[in-house]
Amino acid sequence: VGSDGVRITMESALTARDRVGVQDFVLLENHTSEAAFMENLRKRFKENLIYTYIGSVLVSVNPYKDLEIYTKNHMERYRGVNFYEVSPHIYAVSDNSYRSMRTERKDQCILISGESGAGKTEASKKILQYYAVTCPASDQVETVKDRLLQSNPVLEAFGNAKTLRNDNSSRFGKYMDIQFDFKGAPVGGHILNYLLEKSRVVHQNHGERNFHIFYQLIEGGEEDLLRRLGLERNPQQYQYLVKVGDTRASLYGWVWNGTLFTFGPESVQLFVAQGNCPKVSSINDRSDWKVVRKALSVIGFNEDEVEELLNIIASVLHLGNIQYGGEDSGNAYITTDTQIKYLARLKSPLNLEQAASARDALSKAVYGRTFTWLVNKINVSLAYKDSPLWMCVIGLLDIYGFEVFQHNSFEQFCINYCNEKLQQLFIELTLKSEQDEYEAEGITWEPVQYFNNKIICDLVEEKFKGIISILDEECLRPGDASDFTFLEKLENTVGGHAHLTTHKLADGKTRKVMGREEFRLLHYAGEVNYNVNGFLDKNNDLLFRNLKEVMCMSNNKILTQCFDRAELKDSKRPETAATQFKTSLAKLMEILMSKEPSYVRCIKPNDAKQAGRFDEVLIRHQVKYLGLMENLRVRRAGFAYRRHYETFLQRYKSLCPETWPSWQGKLADGVSTLVKHLGYKPEEYKLGRSKIFIRFPKTLFATEDALETR
Ligand code: ADP
Ligand code: MG
Repeated sequence: VGSDGVRITMESALTARDRVGVQDFVLLENHTSEAAFMENLRKRFKENLIYTYIGSVLVSVNPYKDLEIYTKNHMERYRGVNFYEVSPHIYAVSDNSYRSMRTERKDQCILISGESGAGKTEASKKILQYYAVTCPASDQVETVKDRLLQSNPVLEAFGNAKTLRNDNSSRFGKYMDIQFDFKGAPVGGHILNYLLEKSRVVHQNHGERNFHIFYQLIEGGEEDLLRRLGLERNPQQYQYLVKVGDTRASLYGWVWNGTLFTFGPESVQLFVAQGNCPKVSSINDRSDWKVVRKALSVIGFNEDEVEELLNIIASVLHLGNIQYGGEDSGNAYITTDTQIKYLARLKSPLNLEQAASARDALSKAVYGRTFTWLVNKINVSLAYKDSPLWMCVIGLLDIYGFEVFQHNSFEQFCINYCNEKLQQLFIELTLKSEQDEYEAEGITWEPVQYFNNKIICDLVEEKFKGIISILDEECLRPGDASDFTFLEKLENTVGGHAHLTTHKLADGKTRKVMGREEFRLLHYAGEVNYNVNGFLDKNNDLLFRNLKEVMCMSNNKILTQCFDRAELKDSKRPETAATQFKTSLAKLMEILMSKEPSYVRCIKPNDAKQAGRFDEVLIRHQVKYLGLMENLRVRRAGFAYRRHYETFLQRYKSLCPETWPSWQGKLADGVSTLVKHLGYKPEEYKLGRSKIFIRFPKTLFATEDALETR
């Protein structure tokens, strides 16, 4: 009996199915019924059984509480055991990938998807821990294991933040290769990072925070460190963290587009309404700081490097506090007294708004590039030092899930585009592998119809008339190009597309439900309205040349690596943010395609981050857009169940006198004799080259019952 109170064999779970549901959705009697699917998920969730399979896909529901299912004992239980013989678990998926890699010598990848807060990052950490504990080790390997594990708190400090959806939301995409040697020991790793949400450095929605590291440093940093960095132990002091109330602000001001413009009697001020959320009950910045400091040294940062890194973090905060005043000529000047001398160069002739946005662009660039530098630094530390004779990898993909807010901008557009690509990969790989298996086994099969979201991927990324191309075109066009001319061009070019709408109708009338600044994409996961405000700026992602020059002159070694002089000489326009992202996603798809995939589909049970709450509506929506019903339908379309002849015979041979106690002839003949004896009808099963395929679950249930009552 497992600690979850359920006997851990597949077969005993079948008999307990009334109470705890079935542990594989393919075993549902009524597999096309969404209600039956939901009921099964609910039953299991109530019993703290958060994992369920759809064939080899693992569905996971975030319990929002610590379950006693991640102990070393649990890890041992899943080691080297057949997927279907133990109750569903993230460790079973981890172990299965590991064993496939070892026996087939084929690279694996585990793709974790689901919306923000569904448990993707936790799942990826559990997988990593599983390998760290169960894989063979040596002294050198211990260091690698430590570093692999410790890379998480560091990347989370710099790349995660509290959002409305998740107190520890990853604001970057992450793909991590774990490299194994011929003995199956982890010997190295490599991380690819995707599109950090840099805009968070200068602006957060109300109730959200900036990246964790800022608060950790301020709350946890030692006195003399803070003194050296010129920081006060009070987040309220920093514009980028929280806006202090300004009495003058109430005198004159207006809000445009989330930005509050105010006029005071002496000076003109401009600031952005910030998150105003320095403390979060689930986060202890002070103890996290200690964890991060330790992790940095495990990874191999020396004291000087840590200081330089923190210097950058501090200077971003200082930068955010710079205020501008207006001259009669309309040019801005710095009104705040700041120690950062190089910032004086911002006195170029910019108006107030331009000056503030130049300041913010610099903050974003400095932070974003430092983050990339950090990932590279971790990669150096994880790199396999010997030249590999033979090596296989398991890749873990933990990337932002589909995101819909009330106000969706360029970031959501990129994130949701990424999810379209992953869905596309999922469709291709699950359907393809299913088809391949039937083919390999010589079984004829009627393909299933499914919604192919390629049409949406094309709409976004196609050359010349895809949304990204149109956006780039506007970004490059001199003159009057703006977010709104971009929207107009969208209307003119792809206005008639089945998956895109704007407020304009074909007959020239307007649609009331949509804002004039929006376009709507009908994603595979549902409709999202995107507000075009800021699309051009964010896509251009430009930084004034003189600011780059100043950064190149910095004494800070990290900054000089982030801002390369060669970049200044290069007169070519840098690629736009969307195009860079598109290219990196295409590369990611190639990487994933070359590997054997496993899937973990994470579901968030409620929006309140509460344990035990199963919100039907919310979950049904996720089941729908994760394509789980379709996935199940495909899996069931041919045959619900398949077993290797050997496994099947081993389990059921006692049910037939001719196969008991052992079968001497060919395995296929033994299975054939056995099922004929059991009375299987020809339409109920097929015999492939190495496996028996059983069409209906009830056939297998009947055989199981026969075993129980024998
Ligand atoms: P995502 O990466 O999908 O946005 P996270 O993995 O960060 O979501 O999970 C959000 C929160 O949910 C975690 O901080 C944790 O509190 C909780 N959580 C997720 N998975 C589990 C789990 N398996 N067991 C317990 N709590 C979990
Ligand atoms: Mg995450």
